[in-house]
Amino acid sequence: MKTFDIHSPEQEIEHPLLKEKGVRVFIKRDDKIHPFISGNKWRKLKYSIHEALEQEKKKLVTFGGAWSNHLLATAAAAAEFNFQSYGIVRGEEVENPVLTMCKLFGMHLQFVSREAYRSKENLFNEQFEKDPEAMYIPEGGYGKKAVLGCAEIIDELTRDYDALFCAAGTGATAAGLAQGILKHNKQTKLHVIPVLKGNFIPSEIEKLGVSTREIYFHEEYHFGGYAKTQPSLLRFVKEFTSHTGILIEPIYTGKSFFAAFDQIQKDNFPRGSHILLLHTGGLTGILGMYDKFSKI
Ligand SMILES: *Cc1c(COP(=O)(O)O)cnc(C)c1O
Repeated sequence: MKTFDIHSPEQEIEHPLLKEKGVRVFIKRDDKIHPFISGNKWRKLKYSIHEALEQEKKKLVTFGGAWSNHLLATAAAAAEFNFQSYGIVRGEEVENPVLTMCKLFGMHLQFVSREAYRSKENLFNEQFEKDPEAMYIPEGGYGKKAVLGCAEIIDELTRDYDALFCAAGTGATAAGLAQGILKHNKQTKLHVIPVLKGNFIPSEIEKLGVSTREIYFHEEYHFGGYAKTQPSLLRFVKEFTSHTGILIEPIYTGKSFFAAFDQIQKDNFPRGSHILLLHTGGLTGILGMYDKFSKI
């Protein structure tokens, strides 16, 4: 079977703050897995795609907002593995670069009201209930199969780390990391940065059968909510990217990397600590906020 099971590298970065504080920071470059099946989205889709192939499904049906990395990842993966793809998009019909790329990969887009979008199972059933070739993939790729795929990030690590930082949207990636850390009996402390407002990530992780007891949640880095930014965050994204040559975006990785640097700045890690930041990809997010950088 075709696959993108490349082991993404762990790359050490240099930065004056890290030198000053005597800590070493590495980036797990899941952004290198594929340009559009971005990082954790491949990890989350992998076992759904395996299942769809096994069950000889022909259509992948999924859900997302108009800038969803998951929609684009599903469209690109579907094209790669010869599935048809159907994307049900929240809100009135719009055009943007992400949706254009979804269409280029052959995704059939359908826009539904925010109201209708709330009952995704209904939307699926209305069109595909009697279609044995269609497979339902949850919004954001959230689910137990996503946990399995994301736990493999830990399988790949070539060193031990004192801390691992990741951004959370649905929490599925964080759940997989926690599972992997447990499975390998690692001492690594998982630091999760919810990028949305509201304290719902711990229960979403628990719903996937993963304990949150050992996870440290940083609730103070959402910058106002999903896709909200502040000048300090935008400045950090630019400063990090220009220093390291590794592009990040302000919606997910910008917030989690900001959190890591802020915690290092506040001396919350002793000298000699090894810290890993998970780069989950999602760089097309920049296309939706390119104009915000004009004043930075
Ligand atoms: C979707 C996404 C996340 C969030 O992952 P969850 O498993 O939903 O928590 C993080 N980073 C990027 C770049 C994403 O696209």
